[in-house]
Amino acid sequence: MVQRNTWQRDRVREALAESRGFVSAQNLHATLREENTGIGLATVYRALAGLAAQGDADSLQSPEGEALYRACSTSGHHHHLICRNCGLTVEIAATDVEQWAQRTASQHGFTHAEHVVDIFGLCAACTQARASERADG
Ligand SMILES: [Zn+2]
Ligand SMILES: [Zn+2]
Ligand SMILES: [Zn+2]
Repeated sequence: MVQRNTWQRDRVREALAESRGFVSAQNLHATLREENTGIGLATVYRALAGLAAQGDADSLQSPEGEALYRACSTSGHHHHLICRNCGLTVEIAATDVEQWAQRTASQHGFTHAEHVVDIFGLCAACTQARASERADG
């Protein structure tokens, strides 16, 4: 029974790898539907949650509270810069943040501290496009 859905999960994994940035389950489902894969939204949700749980995908929450997923090239701890317009994602190391998080946690007597820090904004291309739109308008 588990094996029956393996190809679906593989297809979700592939579609995620082909995405250029973080995508929601609904976005990915729309992509798969265009390809007539017949994979349902619930299956996409399950597959993405499974990939994230296994560490095969990064997951985070958008400022709007939507769960987003990405197949990251970095498997270790890292942070993201995400364009809220086009979805472009840059993986970043943040040494300052690591030190600040450790220091702040230990100041309050916390151990085993973990953190999630992702930056949402407009990428350079989108900023430029928006600026020229305004100039034309
Ligand atoms: Zn990542
Ligand atoms: Zn952008
Ligand atoms: Zn960090």
